Amino acid sequence: MSTLANKIHHNAKEKTITVMTYKINELFETIQGEGSFTGQPSIFIRLQGCPVGCSWCDTKHTWDIEIEEQVSPESMLNKTEETTQWASFSAQDIYDLVQAKQFRAKHIVITGGEPCMVDLTPLCQLFEQQGYSSQIETSGTFEVLTTEKCWVTVSPKINMRGGYSILASAMSRANEIKHPIATQQHVDELKSLLALHSIEDTAIYLQPISQKKRATELAIETCIANNWRLSVQVHKYIGIE
Ligand code: SF4
Repeated sequence: MSTLANKIHHNAKEKTITVMTYKINELFETIQGEGSFTGQPSIFIRLQGCPVGCSWCDTKHTWDIEIEEQVSPESMLNKTEETTQWASFSAQDIYDLVQAKQFRAKHIVITGGEPCMVDLTPLCQLFEQQGYSSQIETSGTFEVLTTEKCWVTVSPKINMRGGYSILASAMSRANEIKHPIATQQHVDELKSLLALHSIEDTAIYLQPISQKKRATELAIETCIANNWRLSVQVHKYIGIE
């Protein structure tokens, strides 16, 4: 190829490169209150968008991606209450922001919404290259695209209004299964799901929904009976986000 042709070819290739961007509803530093990383200082990155439709969802403001709700990164960061507003960031923007805010946590938690609606590999890769660990919290209804090192928490949302199925690929990628329960039906649904998948080495957590007494008692009884673990949303008991 001549030098000129080479240059044109190179320029054409450059034009096809797109930078992955993420729609972020919230970004903040706190303590992880659930699952294996309970107590770990963490940077939470909450993505906008979720079609799964859990009736008891406590982040319903993240469900819809309305274009008119897009705001500047500064406006998103200055929010003082839960809103449907979101801002667009590249992985590098997010990393730069974390440095600018001088967050000291070295663990990122990508949550939502349903974060696995997008490829999370570039985001996790960048943070891991800089010495952070990464974790994703997903409903298991979308393919999990991330790095090998990333810790994947699947909180399977079974038979929800959106009509999505739990994917076998998400179950096999899970490092832990964290299941919210309020009734025996939720326990039975989890057991039916586990019977379909081979996940011997994966930790299983039951998490009582809304800190209700009956749900907590049921979770404790079921954990003991099955040698599973209890996750109690510590952040809600100590009054932090
Ligand atoms: S998957 Fe998560 S964000 Fe989506 S509706 Fe269910 S609880 Fe809410």
